[in-house]
Amino acid sequence: MAKTGDVCTFCGRGSSDVNLLINGISGAICDDCVQQAYEIVKEQTETKKRPFGLTKKDLPKPEDIKTFLDQYVIGQDDAKRYLSVSVYNHYKRLLQRVTTDDVEIEKSNIIMVGATGTGKTLLARTIAKLLHVPFAIVDATVLTEAGYVGEDIESILTRLLQASDYNVEAAQRGIVFIDEIDKIARKSDNPSITRDVSGEGVQQGLLKLLEGSIVNVPPQGGRKHPDQKMIAVDTKNILFVCGGAFDGIEKKIAQRLNTRVVGYSANKETSAVDRNNLLKYITPTDLKSFGLIPEIIGRLPILTYLNPLDRSTLRSILTEPKNSIIKQYIKLFEMDGIELSFDEEVYEYIVDKALEFKLGARGLRSIVEAIMMDAMFTMPSQKSRTLHVSLDYAKEKFEKSDVNRLQTA
Ligand code: ADP
Repeated sequence: MAKTGDVCTFCGRGSSDVNLLINGISGAICDDCVQQAYEIVKEQTETKKRPFGLTKKDLPKPEDIKTFLDQYVIGQDDAKRYLSVSVYNHYKRLLQRVTTDDVEIEKSNIIMVGATGTGKTLLARTIAKLLHVPFAIVDATVLTEAGYVGEDIESILTRLLQASDYNVEAAQRGIVFIDEIDKIARKSDNPSITRDVSGEGVQQGLLKLLEGSIVNVPPQGGRKHPDQKMIAVDTKNILFVCGGAFDGIEKKIAQRLNTRVVGYSANKETSAVDRNNLLKYITPTDLKSFGLIPEIIGRLPILTYLNPLDRSTLRSILTEPKNSIIKQYIKLFEMDGIELSFDEEVYEYIVDKALEFKLGARGLRSIVEAIMMDAMFTMPSQKSRTLHVSLDYAKEKFEKSDVNRLQTA
């Protein structure tokens, strides 16, 4: 019989069958078993970190959530407060299921209205990062009613399953961001003879997802794999965050505000209205006038808005967030041992260009990229270990770049 030290105590293989045998006081373990044991430990500790292992104590308070968001997202205080509270309540609701309680807290899905590039996706993504939950972004424009060209509504959950490595338990506590929800608005007020398969049809389909039900999800998505085995996903605890630009909704808000003018106290109300940012007065009624069906609006009870990005916000976005664009470039250069610095005026110049080309926050990156491209190409193989970007340097590089391409982007 083999003596201790000659065989792995876990799998029983001898030292000649394994790469390495590690001896302990009263047993030995082979490299394969070490690897497997490591995987088990990793999985178990990760499971504990997930929200279903969360205790009330671990759950970040709304103010903590907002402080976390502040590190990554500039401004948008109202949206941050709404999000923080509803996310906190959502996860409190999940914890409540552990202990039996008779008051059932309803789900609080969120809808954010704001021009494109103002930070809606960023907010949702940052929250998911804080909570360590699976997060998926889906675009509502590609969805159609089942049976029509486009993607089935269930494909939303396929993305979430993919984001959670097909861990159904984790996916069921995840966050889904549905972008461009305004694009599935009803196409016209009159029910027409042709079916509205990408508008109202999709809204009807979304209802059951938002509300919470068990949905059969094709694991690979799409209809190209008709024989795939469906996975049942319960959407009861999935938090849905919807976002949309709702172009032209300001007109509906203005109309509503104007019709309210009749009556005494009218003067007081109209004089306080900030005509430049009507979105902040948005109510569910406006969403209905825009073409969302009342049932959908009812299932998105938290309605908030994002402010347009002004000059000073753009300037802050460039340098302040924890992973701001400028900080990312400094890091990139630092990895090559190059110290990168900028003149203050360069930042102003970048913001000017973003405003001039109406590129918003998304354009900031393209502009910095255009300025830095030459240096990124040549410097890693050169001796020089510092680069200071002056206004003249930035102007020269930017003007040399394909400006027109940016303008049409
Ligand atoms: P939306 O979803 O509203 O269209 P995004 O959240 O995708 O816009 O924003 C696009 C990019 O612009 C983000 O990746 C981020 O770099 C930047 N950005 C936009 N708004 C902000 C903000 N308020 N704070 C920081 N960065 C922002």
